[in-house]
Amino acid sequence: MLECRGYAAQSANDSLKPFSFKRRDVGPKDVRIAIAYCGVCHSDLHMARNEWRSTIYPCVPGHEIVGEVVEVGSAVTRFKKGDLAGVGCLVDSCGHCQSCQEGLEQYCETGSTMTYGSDDPEMGTPTFGGYSDAIVVTEKFALNIPKNLDLAAVAPLLCAGITTWSPLRHWKAGPGTRVGVIGLGGLGHMALKLGRALGAEMTLFTTSQGKVEDAKRLGAHHVVMSKDKGEMAQCAGKLDLIIDTVAVKHPVAPYLETLKREGVFVFVGLPEDPLGFMPMDLASKRRSMSGSFIGGIPETQEMLDFCGKHGITSDIEMIAIKDIENAYERMQKSDVKYRFVIDLKTLEEAA
Ligand code: NAP
Ligand code: ZN
Repeated sequence: MLECRGYAAQSANDSLKPFSFKRRDVGPKDVRIAIAYCGVCHSDLHMARNEWRSTIYPCVPGHEIVGEVVEVGSAVTRFKKGDLAGVGCLVDSCGHCQSCQEGLEQYCETGSTMTYGSDDPEMGTPTFGGYSDAIVVTEKFALNIPKNLDLAAVAPLLCAGITTWSPLRHWKAGPGTRVGVIGLGGLGHMALKLGRALGAEMTLFTTSQGKVEDAKRLGAHHVVMSKDKGEMAQCAGKLDLIIDTVAVKHPVAPYLETLKREGVFVFVGLPEDPLGFMPMDLASKRRSMSGSFIGGIPETQEMLDFCGKHGITSDIEMIAIKDIENAYERMQKSDVKYRFVIDLKTLEEAA
């Protein structure tokens, strides 16, 4: 077995601390990746603090993983030693159900295995994520990384990128469509970049006056202060699609008003508390409400290839792993520009 080091939360009230654990040996279909960088997703914070009331401890978060392949199993065909590889939120699924057959492993009908916090049947522990020095994963769930992009800035594509790409593609964002994005954090800034590159007219709704100029640089044609009723009223009935990335409880009614007839409101943000809305705000314009969960492996590769072609990466702030709690605190204050990425070389000095 492989001895690994990482950072873990031991309970909901604990800060993350150095943690040693084991991973399985590389099997015939597995690759071992030496993790170079791991993005910090708001889901990591929800999970570390048990905000979704489902966390199994110890919890090693991290599902925006990039690094170098250092070992491959005998049956591996898509990777060789020295290649770059990425791992997102999923490390396995049943492979047989309708969703898996369609490449939508995130909706696996028997439940996919998440990169961290799922049961690891082989190890008898939870799965452990990317705040660590290495990961072993079946090659089907490893992604090819475009060589022309900055590796650290690619890491957030593995969750923030695919989670916004999937609804943009599913609801056909492109030339002639008007897309709203709520919240300029990790997911929001990727939604702007990807939506803009797909050709859609992009509107950002933000609560932070200080992010207006950045939003325009990142791809917004229009920026709306969501707490300003006058600015919100000017958007009434304009949008085809809204992607809501907000991580905490917030009102949705003001945003529903900005949708056209038959417009679609999609939750990707996953607050710990229920959100309320008035059915009339949907019924009066035959609007829909939906949600979207990360993305399947084929569409994750599609998104990475698209980013390679269009030179798209995340805007990142690199941190040492010992500063993770400070990054979480800043995330809670919406002070993220626009994704923290951990440099895993800093694990050595932290241990
Ligand atoms: P993040 O970087 O913290 O960004 C969230 C943004 O929401 C903030 O930067 C802020 O932007 C805005 N916001 C904060 N408080 C708000 C409020 N009270 N009202 C309105 N807007 C507010 O978080 P993230 O990493 O992008 O993740 C966002 C959410 O998506 C989390 O709940 C995460 O768990 C979830 N997620 C879901 C999936 C999925 O598969 N569905 C995948 C990954 C993450 P402004 O300053 O611009 O207002
Ligand atoms: Zn995530």
